[in-house]
Amino acid sequence: MEQNIVLRWVAEADLPGLYQGLCAIGLGTPGAGTVSDVVACPGTDTCKLGIASSRGLAGELSQRLAGIAPGLDAAVNALHIKISGCFNACGQHHLADLGFYGVSRKVGGTTVPHFRVVLGGEWEHNAGAFGLTVGAIPSKRVPDFVERITAKYVQERNAGEAFRKYIERVGKQEIKTLVDELSVVPPYERDRSYYSDWRDPREFTVSDIGTGECAGEVVSRAEFGLQSAERQYFEAQLHFDRGAYEVADNTAYNAMLEAAKALIHTQFLDMSTDPDAIASEFKKRFCDTEVFHDHYAGGKFAQYLFNRHADMDRKYTPEQTRYLIEEAQLFIEAAYACHGRLLEQGNFASRETAILLERS
Ligand code: SF4
Repeated sequence: MEQNIVLRWVAEADLPGLYQGLCAIGLGTPGAGTVSDVVACPGTDTCKLGIASSRGLAGELSQRLAGIAPGLDAAVNALHIKISGCFNACGQHHLADLGFYGVSRKVGGTTVPHFRVVLGGEWEHNAGAFGLTVGAIPSKRVPDFVERITAKYVQERNAGEAFRKYIERVGKQEIKTLVDELSVVPPYERDRSYYSDWRDPREFTVSDIGTGECAGEVVSRAEFGLQSAERQYFEAQLHFDRGAYEVADNTAYNAMLEAAKALIHTQFLDMSTDPDAIASEFKKRFCDTEVFHDHYAGGKFAQYLFNRHADMDRKYTPEQTRYLIEEAQLFIEAAYACHGRLLEQGNFASRETAILLERS
């Protein structure tokens, strides 16, 4: 779960020479095991599935945190930060005190790298607890988030209170407020820095804005639906935290339906709210055609919706509900990814497909 190397059986007298040798090859950076020792997967540097630059963000955070290490509170210095370039979690973001994984969002039709925030995971006790997400923020605001949440923790914690316990106590709603404050993306013309990733000079250009005179309304409606799905997913977490498992389960299910409906709206605006109709249209338009399929996971995320939709004998146990909430999160993320692909292909209201489906 860490990315360090242990060198055993080194004589004390050899330590200075070993240290100098490690520094000479760029492996002498201090801070192993501290908050500046950020774990990251390869992300967009080398992984074809990467969505955001996990290594770029890790490098930026490491540098900033190492720079302020002498003044850091001991409990903050002991936190673990882990970053994945996408939801596949190779960076083990779900087991960190502060975890992040790459997602993308469209702002005014342009792609902006974002990271989802996952708080309260536990890497000790053989990965004792997974964190749950509390929203997404632009990649360029993640260092600000780390600074603010750690300062808030130091200021508000009870004596000896661990970060994970503190997050549990203050609740996701309060943390979400902090996330929302940092989630605002200025227009491209006002601040272009948001539209590129850490340590990646390439800038997303405005050329990927969806074109076509009817696209504007369709895109905004789909985006609105996806945001609504995200809100419902968050509410499901809140219901879960207060022990209302049946409500939480149904809210997570509705969040998936909302995301599916948002995608259907890209082809077919007159969609009812009937779950059977949504599941059927979603299957026909996005699953049978493999439009929704993830490059890595295939149709796995779509199946989360279909499994829940077909489950007539739901038990609403805490474990089952928590599992469904996690599935809803992945489903919504897959819907965002599908939506982004459609935009990039200029495939909104892929009218020929839609019309053919309409007639079939
Ligand atoms: S988490 Fe995603 S980006 Fe990172 S290595 Fe795994 S598949 Fe690639």
